[in-house]
Amino acid sequence: MTVRVRFAPSPTGFLHVGGARTALYNYLFARVHGGVFVLRIEDTDAARSTDESVAAILDSLRWLGLAWDEGPEVGGAHGPYFQSERRDHYHRHAAALRAAGRAYPCYCTPAELEAMRESQAANKEPQRYDGRCRGLDGAARARLEAEGRGAALRFALDTAGETAWKDVVRDRVAFRNDVLDDFVLLRADGLPTYNFACVVDDHEMEISHVIRGDDHISNTPRQVALYAALGWEPPVFAHVSMILGSDGSRLSKRHGATSVAAYHELGYLPAGMVNFLALLGWAYDDKAELFTLAELERVFRLERVSRNPAIFNLEKLDWLNGQHLKRLSEGERTELVTRFLAGRGFDLSGHPAEWWTALVRTLGERVRTLADAETAGAFALNDVLETEPAAWAELLEKPAVGPRLAQLAAVLESDPDFSLESLERATRGLAVAQGVKPGELMAAARVALTGRKTAPGLFEVMWLLGRARTVGRLQDAAARWGAGSAHAGD
Ligand code: GLU
Repeated sequence: MTVRVRFAPSPTGFLHVGGARTALYNYLFARVHGGVFVLRIEDTDAARSTDESVAAILDSLRWLGLAWDEGPEVGGAHGPYFQSERRDHYHRHAAALRAAGRAYPCYCTPAELEAMRESQAANKEPQRYDGRCRGLDGAARARLEAEGRGAALRFALDTAGETAWKDVVRDRVAFRNDVLDDFVLLRADGLPTYNFACVVDDHEMEISHVIRGDDHISNTPRQVALYAALGWEPPVFAHVSMILGSDGSRLSKRHGATSVAAYHELGYLPAGMVNFLALLGWAYDDKAELFTLAELERVFRLERVSRNPAIFNLEKLDWLNGQHLKRLSEGERTELVTRFLAGRGFDLSGHPAEWWTALVRTLGERVRTLADAETAGAFALNDVLETEPAAWAELLEKPAVGPRLAQLAAVLESDPDFSLESLERATRGLAVAQGVKPGELMAAARVALTGRKTAPGLFEVMWLLGRARTVGRLQDAAARWGAGSAHAGD
């Protein structure tokens, strides 16, 4: 059997991280089995579907590297891949169901359906369509049509027994048929419902495995019943558990960004994101965590997808992203960081290429996302120094530190080389001459130059700042120290 899977987003917004995980699992399952990954756009909700959303979803899938084999833009033998273009397919199968007595027109108005629900609620009965149009004879139908009523098409469900399937993730799942009802297949406007369109398309597109979020699990018995009524073999189902936020509630905006595009903008790498998404419900074993997409394409197994909800842990994402950044060559890392910074408005031409390479090298593992470069590198990227209040207060209170920093400024101003070696030699030499431990002078200089207590190596910092900014910031700190009230009269 050829494995054919699909990702079937409704284009009503961005690609959500939950959807991205579903897409990834389908993609990986296809790759592992040498199968086909289909992208189908479920845009039958004309009011909520937009072209912008389609474009955004395609962009995010491309950014993640999840290339589809059939679907929008690439085409394929099972198209069209937009449900809005498949109307005749749905109508053809609807007519077959009707001819077989498995579907019937329903003339109930929205107001009548609402009244039905209200009376069921008042009687504490389960809310379901009561089948009142199922038994209408030809004359009754003709009378209602003569009233000008439109008709939806409903599925004539067999309420006896149960509908069950063996789910790859959840094992046996069963629903009693009497909890289901005669659900709508085609609305009065001729548009198909999700359950109907999904079954028709999955069948016609020869989908072998349906891998989707378990928020769809209550749809599956309806779909299984439809396969039976249409005389089709259902696909294998795999319902993947929900993604929860760190507090155990369903992942939402409260837990941070939920769209893939937002993570792109925040400076995450596709590799970090893919790795993170893969581990939201799947594990290779109980140790290995770092995987590239290419590695996942070999080792992913649907059988190892857990039925327990996955926790969306941003710390883990940052760590994984940092690991993927670390795996790159210095050149690749620098390229990504500089492109990100350029996108954030920094003028790359302000420094030569080797300066940018040195910046990225100096920031090292402080950069776990590309955006970290902007914060960790702020001291060098911005001419105006941002200072941590506590670090400055401490510096300004230190006895004698002002004159020492002023001397350091003078020494460095006349250092001819201004290289890492000469800066270190000059700084340590001055500390000895001042009778202080080099570490003490260096700690003060670090705060003066970066505004913070923890920063990358001091001599790299000096080199990145260059002579003018280094000397200027040291003098500035000395002047501020001198002006500080703690030393008035020193
Ligand atoms: N359009 C549905 C959704 O976005 C697809 C569900 C399915 O995979 O069957 O949730």
